[in-house]
Formats: sequence, C-alpha cells, structure tokens
Amino acid sequence: MTNLKTTIGLEIHVQLKTKSKMFCRCDNEAFGVKPNTTVCPICLGMPGSLPVANEQAILWTIKTGLTLNCEIPKIAKFDRKHYFYPDLPKGYQISQYDEPFCVGGYVEVGDRKINLTRIHLEEDAGKLIHREGISLVDLNRAGTPLMEIVSEPDIVSPEEAGAFLRKLQKIVRDEVSVSEASMEKGHLRCDANISITDGEKMSEIVELKNLNSFRFVEKALAIEEVRLKEEYPAWPLKLKKVTRGYDSKKNITFAQRTKEEAADYRYFPEPDLPPFDSSSVNLASLKKDIGISEDKNIEELVGMGLSTSNAKILASSPTKEDFFRKISENFDNNELIAKVVIHNYFGFELEKKDLDYSSEYAKAIEAFGSGKINKNILSQIFLEIRNGKKYLDIANGYLEADLNISEVVEGILKNNAKEVNLYKAGKQQLLGFFVGLVMRETKGAANPAEVNRILLEKLGR
Ligand code: ZN
Ligand code: MN
Repeated sequence: MTNLKTTIGLEIHVQLKTKSKMFCRCDNEAFGVKPNTTVCPICLGMPGSLPVANEQAILWTIKTGLTLNCEIPKIAKFDRKHYFYPDLPKGYQISQYDEPFCVGGYVEVGDRKINLTRIHLEEDAGKLIHREGISLVDLNRAGTPLMEIVSEPDIVSPEEAGAFLRKLQKIVRDEVSVSEASMEKGHLRCDANISITDGEKMSEIVELKNLNSFRFVEKALAIEEVRLKEEYPAWPLKLKKVTRGYDSKKNITFAQRTKEEAADYRYFPEPDLPPFDSSSVNLASLKKDIGISEDKNIEELVGMGLSTSNAKILASSPTKEDFFRKISENFDNNELIAKVVIHNYFGFELEKKDLDYSSEYAKAIEAFGSGKINKNILSQIFLEIRNGKKYLDIANGYLEADLNISEVVEGILKNNAKEVNLYKAGKQQLLGFFVGLVMRETKGAANPAEVNRILLEKLGR
C-alpha cells in the first residue's frame, strides 16, 4: 500500500497563574468562586474602560519563550480579534496577530525536535453554563491571561503529540513555574490539527477543538488518523479544512461547523495598549533566572566572534552582556565592542538606562575603532551621549579640539623656549607649567591626560 504520512500540529492554551487578570486588577483565581464576583468594568467589557497589560504575564511569556529556544522580537503588540459570543462581552478578544512576544523555538521530544511557530499572549473569555433550557454566563474567567503556544506541523503520530504535551506541561509547571498546568482545572487546553499525505495528495485538514486531557488528545487524533486513511480514495482535490469535536464518553469524533479563516476575525491593532519594546527587559538576567545554561550562552557569544575568555566575562554580567548584544546590533566589530565593554572605556558604571543610548555609543566605538578618536576622547563622548547628546552633534567638536591641542602646544613651546631648554636639561617638574598654560589657553576644555600625552610627545621624551 501507499506510504501514508501523518502530520500533526498543536495549539496549546496555557493559563498563567498571575495574581491578577491580564488587563485589569481583578483576582485571577476563579476556581470555586461565586459566579460574576471577580469582575470589574474592564473585564466586563464596559464602554470607556481602559485595559492595562499585566507585566508579570508578559515577562512570564518571554521567559517561557527563552526556555523554549524562541526568538524574542524587539517589538510586540496586542490586536483585537473580533467575534460574537455570549461569553465575550466586548465583542472581541485582545490577542496578538502578527507581532507576538516569541517566535520560532522548539521542544525536544525524545530524540526529535518539534519546532514552534510562536507564543503569544491573550485573554480568556467567560464561561457559559447550560441547564434545563436556560443558559447562564459567568464572567469570572473573562480576562484571565492565556499563553498560546503554537507548534509547526512537525508531529508525526498521536503518541508523539501526547509526549510533546507532557513535556510542555512539565516545562511550564516545573521549570518556568508560570502555570499550575492542571488539565482537570482547564489550565491547559489543546487544539490539534491533523492531516495525512501520500506525498502528492492530501486528506482534509481536521481541527480538533478544546481537548482537555492528554489521553483525549491522543485518542481523538488516533481516531482521525484511522478515519482519514480509510477515506484515502475519496480525498479532496482542493485544500479543505474541517472542524471536528471529540466525545470522550462515546470515544468518537463528530463533524462541527467549518473553520473560520483568519480574515473573518478582522484583526486590528489594539489602540488602547502601546506596543511592547523588549529592549526594556533584561533578557540576560531572565535567562539566568531560568537557568539557561551558561555554557550555551558562552557558546553563542563565541559564535558571535568573541574569544572564550571574553565570552565568559560577558556571560557572568547580565548588564554588560545585554549592553554588548545591543551595541552589536548597530555595529559589527564584536571583539572591539566586547573590549570596550569589558575594560569599561566608559569610565562610569553601565546601567540599564545605557541600553537606550546603545546606537549612539555604537557610533563612537566605530570612530574609535577606525582611529578617528582616542580612548580618552571616546570616554568623554560616552559621557556626553549619556547626558542626552547625539554622537554626530558632538564628535566634530572633539575631532577639532584634538587637532587644536597640538597647535596650542606647539605655540606654547615656541613662546617658552627658555623653559623648554630647562625641561630638556632635566627640570621635569616644568611639565606642570606647560600643562597649565595649555589649559589656560583652551579655557579648560582640553582633556589634561591628552595634553600631557601631546606635550610629552612634542618635548621628545
Ligand atoms: Zn476585571
Ligand atoms: Mn487562542
């Protein structure tokens, strides 16, 4: 028989165990609480209420992303995903569309790498309770932070899907500790996609929604795997997506409404929340928090062109490492940047706020690297940049001043020939006298160390 290959992708919603909800300060613990008591105008979707993003939830998502080998883009933003449902009072869910907090990454399952597409953050909806002909709504859960982890369709069997989920549960619960990750309490909810191909033709793509136990995921996928293979002769000619449900009591799957396409949600950027800039986060120390092995980090820095010893020094100081990485985005002589950072040519202690000036600092380091300015001038320029000046606005001044000092020194030596001769005859304390003259002439603007250097050079010591 033809060789049929199974392709499975998963989307996992992980409820974060933050104290408060995603965009308001309501208590995030809704389990066993009286309906509609942990609510406020924001999570009830009242007109005019304004969401404020939960920083803890964002940091935890990034932390999870770092643990799962994701890339953390510089900018992330929230979007509105529109749909109507009685448990969604706003008429839209705040989610993330094209700029999530984490992209790429992978999870190792056995000896296989299952790639991830992305991890984004969104809010949960409320809950509908149906009983005896009436439906009730409980909005305690509305606004709960959900981290959605989306895998690539890299999974090859229902068993591997189960193993992937168990691994992920262990990571979010025990390693990064961002969720209780209890399947029974609904902290982990899984949607699965499955299709089969013979290499040319493809079965329909089945989406299984809201599977709330690992066993159900495996069972539902196994049922679909068999069903789709049996349908092989009748596979569709065009791409076809369907949604199916799983009845755990009868252990069967059944057809549901067809899947909406992304466009139906009319995503647009959430105007009430500013985009998030990840450079405001100390990624290196987050990595350290979660014990991303120092070896791996050092290896990466060596891969950026650093010597092992420099990589080790940077890896042991989160601020310096962050700063190094930031500057290296703007200028590509990594070994030089490392040297400047490690030997602190700045002359001041680097702080988080220095990250904001990194592109300006990069320009100064580049000029230093090409020999346009020396080490002393470099540190003076750093200081001015830190005080809010732009490199281009100050650099010319320094380049001219440097030339001027030479001229001033020459002039002074010429006008004080007697002292020069005394100096050369051995009266070295006259150096201070010359320095004083130069400083007076330059009205104190010259760097004394620089003046010393030029004087010694011209006096021919
Ligand atoms: Zn609220
Ligand atoms: Mn979602």
